[in-house]
Amino acid sequence: MGARGWVGFSWPKEFGGSDGGIIEQTILKEEMALARAPPLGTSFMGLAWVGPGIMQYGTRAQKKKFIPDILDSKVVWCTGYSEPNHGSDLASIQCKAVLEGDEYVVNGQKIWTTGAAFAQWIILLTRTRFDVAVKHQGITCLLVPMDAPGIEVRPIENMASDRHFAEVFFTDVRVPMENRLGEEGDGWKVTVSALANERSSIGEVTHMFGKLDTLKELVKKTNIQGRPAAKDPRVRRTIAMFEAKIAAMKYNGLRYLTKQLKGEPLTSETSVNKLHRASLEIEMDDFAVALTGQAGLQLRGGDEAVDGGSWAKASLNWPNVVIGGGTPNIQRNIIAERILGLPKD
Ligand SMILES: Cc1cc2nc3c(=O)[nH]c(=O)nc-3n(C[C@H](O)[C@H](O)[C@H](O)COP(=O)(O)OP(=O)(O)OC[C@H]3O[C@@H](n4cnc5c(N)ncnc54)[C@H](O)[C@@H]3O)c2cc1C
Repeated sequence: MGARGWVGFSWPKEFGGSDGGIIEQTILKEEMALARAPPLGTSFMGLAWVGPGIMQYGTRAQKKKFIPDILDSKVVWCTGYSEPNHGSDLASIQCKAVLEGDEYVVNGQKIWTTGAAFAQWIILLTRTRFDVAVKHQGITCLLVPMDAPGIEVRPIENMASDRHFAEVFFTDVRVPMENRLGEEGDGWKVTVSALANERSSIGEVTHMFGKLDTLKELVKKTNIQGRPAAKDPRVRRTIAMFEAKIAAMKYNGLRYLTKQLKGEPLTSETSVNKLHRASLEIEMDDFAVALTGQAGLQLRGGDEAVDGGSWAKASLNWPNVVIGGGTPNIQRNIIAERILGLPKD
């Protein structure tokens, strides 16, 4: 698929894409999902927001260096934004970068960094100035190789016993100035666009339709008190509600597409689908677990595990889509203040 230029279909041909349209790319993704094919490319973050960020703010040298490797799935990226006391309040980050000659020297800590244990590069938010009037100023975005001396990764185990994310410690890590993404002090601008892309990718619906199909198959093979679950009015109503919610997300997503086609950047509106996806994933996973009774609680490896324990696992992994990319409260604040024009929280 990479060789055909399908992975970054709408990205510039010069860097390995296809110069294609966004609509064609969307259709391609939909068809891939309908065929239950794996996602296009393996560097999820690279494709969803690091690559688009580099194309928007990167130098020509950075585009040539990083974009082809993202498309070829040669390099996996992780995202170093959150810190122990600064998750929702991201603009207050403290990880420090000091310019010494033509290198930044980075000291500080990140947390909840998904994929840090296996990623080769990190997109890192640092503070280059502390004497600022507004906390959103003085932030600088750096692109850092994970094997740079002074980086230590300590994986964190989640409640589903997975080790997806980690704490990352930086001690005198030297980063060449040419690895700065955007101007010094412009890191917040770079991040706002990356977060919009992250939220829009989390809010994508193609995956949700596939998940609903799997859920319908589960319903068809399940009995409730000796009767087919597929005949139970409550079950049917719930499935119809999921279908309606996903359709609403799809049409809302098409509004984003229209905006992109007009050449307008995506911003706060991506919080709407991010918020919907969060609640919908929880409702679907919990519904599947409840439907299948005790067997539904068994994780992978259990003798009676339903669908290989994937529903039980998913219901324990809800923070991925609910908290990752920003919590529901924060999405609601964004929608209230920036879209509906309500007073500040
Ligand atoms: C599975 C997972 C993967 C993640 N991956 C990454 C990653 O790859 N890179 C990365 O940088 N980060 C990552 N994160 C971190 C994530 O972005 C933060 O956890 C999230 O933004 C919340 O920040 P916090 O944990 O500091 O919680 P807090 O900000 O301390 O929030 C705690 C609670 O307070 C509420 N709250 C906070 N502020 C407000 C407010 N102003 N109004 C109303 N309510 C408020 C929140 O909604 C939440 O309920 C990941 C998190 C998870 C769970």
